Amino acid sequence: MPNDESRDAAPKPQTGDSSPSSHLDPGLSFQHYALPLTYARTVIHEVSYEGGPGFCGPVFPGLVPDDYHGPLVVALDSNVLIDLQEHGEVLLEGEGLEELGLSEGYTRELAALADLLHIWLLHDIRFIVTPRSLTDAKKPNPNFAERRRPTVQALADALAFQYGDWTADPPSATEVARVGQESGLPDSADRDLVLEAQGVGAHLFITRDVRLLERVQLSGRPLHVSLPSTLAGFLIQAGVSPFGGSTCGAVDCPYADDMPAPDIGKWQPLFSIFE
Ligand SMILES: [Zn+2]
Repeated sequence: MPNDESRDAAPKPQTGDSSPSSHLDPGLSFQHYALPLTYARTVIHEVSYEGGPGFCGPVFPGLVPDDYHGPLVVALDSNVLIDLQEHGEVLLEGEGLEELGLSEGYTRELAALADLLHIWLLHDIRFIVTPRSLTDAKKPNPNFAERRRPTVQALADALAFQYGDWTADPPSATEVARVGQESGLPDSADRDLVLEAQGVGAHLFITRDVRLLERVQLSGRPLHVSLPSTLAGFLIQAGVSPFGGSTCGAVDCPYADDMPAPDIGKWQPLFSIFE
């Protein structure tokens, strides 16, 4: 059943979008953009051998900056985090989604999350959550943070394997400076999560909340806000499979040399999320 922290993703197109730089177009036509010079690359953007093959601008125009060769940083809305927690095992096995008895739209989003998870296994997608994830319960509940914390920590542990550096703080552990403005959402956890994702330098914020997707109006540093299905569709259409298709192969590409498979140590923490 859809949980109470999210609304089902209905298969309707976005309308009234006046901020193309902040949306991932469901028609999979991407806006080209360049990150402003003020963009600070942090450890979440660094190429690492442990992370495995990343994602190159020439292969994914509009998704990441043209001159970018690095991990794809994807911030998760809480509804996606909960999907991972509740349905992770089914997602990983890649079958049994229909049997969950969910709506067509929800099933499609879960299938897309399964695709992203399978790409993540062998590519450097960095799934992150930000501090507001620990306090975004709709109703105040003293146990909420305690229940959410193991999931957030598991994502942080998976990230540490990808960094290859256990001393680096995950985005969930440090306060995030705001670098933009959001004007379409009510003053809410949704707005905070989007602004934190932008502040930390995520390329995307994925959510199953269609209302958020329709309303969000972001200024400042580019951040795509998309359904899991939009991102998965784009990556697959661009030729990404679990085994390749994400890097450009140019001579000066950091992934041009034989890149080893990622440190599969990252798998275990994420799998531990699955209930
Ligand atoms: Zn490249």
